[in-house]
Amino acid sequence: MADIVFFQSTPLRTFGLIGYPLSHSFSEKYFTEKFSREQINDCRYELYPIRSVDEVKQLIRSFPHLKGLNVTIPYKQQIIKLLTDASEIPEGIRACNCIKIEGKILIGYNTDCIGFEKSFTPLLQPHHKKALVLGTGGAAAAVVYVLKKLGINFTSVSRSPLQSSVIKYSDLNEKKLKEYNIIINTTPLGMYPQTDSCPPLPYQAITEKFLLYDLVYNPAQTLFLSKGAAKGAAIKNGEEMLILQAEESWKIWNS
Ligand code: NAP
Repeated sequence: MADIVFFQSTPLRTFGLIGYPLSHSFSEKYFTEKFSREQINDCRYELYPIRSVDEVKQLIRSFPHLKGLNVTIPYKQQIIKLLTDASEIPEGIRACNCIKIEGKILIGYNTDCIGFEKSFTPLLQPHHKKALVLGTGGAAAAVVYVLKKLGINFTSVSRSPLQSSVIKYSDLNEKKLKEYNIIINTTPLGMYPQTDSCPPLPYQAITEKFLLYDLVYNPAQTLFLSKGAAKGAAIKNGEEMLILQAEESWKIWNS
């Protein structure tokens, strides 16, 4: 009688995204296409739209092959309390967008910093010395961290400033805006489907010496960037940052 060989199918290493709601996801599309393109046949990427950050514990119990997660709105800050102390989130950033899962232990990282730094630094000209950072959320924390690291002076702008160093949009008249030459939008303003909105700025003060960087990547050219381009400013959207942060997550999960 011929030998019978039993093949046990190898469980797929699973990665995914937590957030809520998760109607569309760059990460799911990116990793699914990456796995297919690079013939990575033992991995899959899933969406986990959880209603409370505490559901992560149950998620990990239910999916033992879950090896890594990306984290998006509204959990980038809330997830911190569930991470091990060994997490590698830079000092001053209270936001995590990438988790490596080792058993029950969640090791947190912030790959937005790396994505922003690598995509922003090559754009800098010697006259780019002072930045406005629009918004004070999770992505802004990564941006601010990088600006400090690069030694670029900056002012944060918020709808409701909680610190005296943060200014309101109504403080930004033409004269004030001309003190800056970099503007970084970390708010969701202009993001699909609200493509006709943009941060309220005196755009007429922008010149060709300005650099406008928008973390929004859909649409490719937001109204904020279009208004800057019309004044001759250099512009950059968030797509490269997004790809760089995804690839950094992949490196971490496989390290
Ligand atoms: P978040 O934590 O919710 O922060 C967004 C901040 O924007 C808020 O803290 C708020 O600051 C401001 N804001 C929100 N709604 C606003 C409105 N209607 N008008 C003016 N300001 C508003 O979100 P996040 O995670 O930082 O993400 C922000 C944006 O960056 C999203 O569009 C996200 O897709 C994008 N992003 C892109 C990348 C990338 O790789 N390209 C990475 C991360 C995030 P104030 O309350 O202080 O005004």
